Amino acid sequence: MSQFSNQPRKIGVFGGTFDPPHVGHLVVAINVLHELGLDEVLLMVANDPWQKRGTREISRAADRFALVEAAVADIPGLSASAIEMELGGASYTADTLEKLLSEDDHVELFTILGADAANGLLTWERHERVSELSTLVVVDRPGVAVELPTPAFGQWVRVEVPHLEVSSSDLRRRVRDGRPLDFLVTSPVLNEITTRSMYAEGER
Ligand code: ATP
Ligand code: MG
Repeated sequence: MSQFSNQPRKIGVFGGTFDPPHVGHLVVAINVLHELGLDEVLLMVANDPWQKRGTREISRAADRFALVEAAVADIPGLSASAIEMELGGASYTADTLEKLLSEDDHVELFTILGADAANGLLTWERHERVSELSTLVVVDRPGVAVELPTPAFGQWVRVEVPHLEVSSSDLRRRVRDGRPLDFLVTSPVLNEITTRSMYAEGER
């Protein structure tokens, strides 16, 4: 559609570790896509989620990316992005947004954040740049009170999404304990987790 007009393509950037991607992520992405009329939402797989370093063992980026690809395969408007893996090293959203704009400056960027991520925004590397380069989109997350970013954060909007109390942490515990993941992740994701023998062992 927008390639025939002068309107910039509207791209949502939904960053995460996605270890694994679950229905909570997909419901956020699809509803923000719809509510804001975006052309595409990129599920941006963190190469090195530096804020989680030392807290637990993180699955290889290539494995997490494969799970995200499986999650979005049949969903129009959602894609998996390997940009942060290609950039390498610690993943900073400011760099990711700069990279997207360097590839195509006729885009309008939206950084999508769950409530917990929004509350931590001030701790991000060059968070002012993230606000300059994109509109912040904040969505609720069950059990997390949103302390909305101050006006200094520039433009932000809040999008209502169905509240799903799902987390990757809980899913990893479920695999370890032998409890089912059905309906919390999509079937293609579950197949990939099984094929890759992910989460079954180790301290997670
Ligand atoms: P973990 O438990 O390992 O931290 P997670 O479920 O929080 O995993 P992340 O990859 O850390 O998933 O989160 C990526 C983004 O998705 C963050 O902005 C987070 O706030 C958001 N998010 C994750 N789960 C939900 C959910 N159930 N509802 C709304 N937002 C969510
Ligand atoms: Mg998280």
